[in-house]
Amino acid sequence: MRLPIVKYGNPILRAQGKRVEQVDERIRTLAADMVETMRAANGIGIAAQQVGAALQLTVLDISQVGDRPSLMKLNGTEVDPASAMPLILLNPKLLLDEETTPGNEGCLSFPDITADIDRAISVQVEAETLDGETVLVEAAGLLARALQHEVDHLNGILFIDRMSSVSKASLSSRLKRLQKETQRGWA
Ligand SMILES: [Zn+2]
Repeated sequence: MRLPIVKYGNPILRAQGKRVEQVDERIRTLAADMVETMRAANGIGIAAQQVGAALQLTVLDISQVGDRPSLMKLNGTEVDPASAMPLILLNPKLLLDEETTPGNEGCLSFPDITADIDRAISVQVEAETLDGETVLVEAAGLLARALQHEVDHLNGILFIDRMSSVSKASLSSRLKRLQKETQRGWA
């Protein structure tokens, strides 16, 4: 089932996600609904906060993006990133490479707003799956960027927090308008 996407201005986007201690039917359904919602919105990732649940749960799928490649290792073995999608991660812990690179980002909670954001070039993520396994995902390229964006969401951090002050200043009136619309229940 497609879920409404929470927009900027809704305080749940600032909530720290609670650990998912047990995978039950509710979590499985939520994860499946998040995949459906993300795909319907042409997104490459969505966090539980963005559908109104402050939980350590995110789903990603970069397989439809042709012009921004990704590299991925799963438990130490190189895999075709497209074949590993959708990636459904619970309680992820992120380790960042020190080297950063700028890249364009958008967010489903900020319609039509994009900016260049500095992110680590590569990341390691340890997380749990719906099957209760612990997996190690190593990623570079677009997937590394998407993982950083989504794990930030799980901790109440938004991409506007990572923008340069110049980018944020140039977007400030649009951000204020979106915040107001959300708070009035329009967005
Ligand atoms: Zn986002």
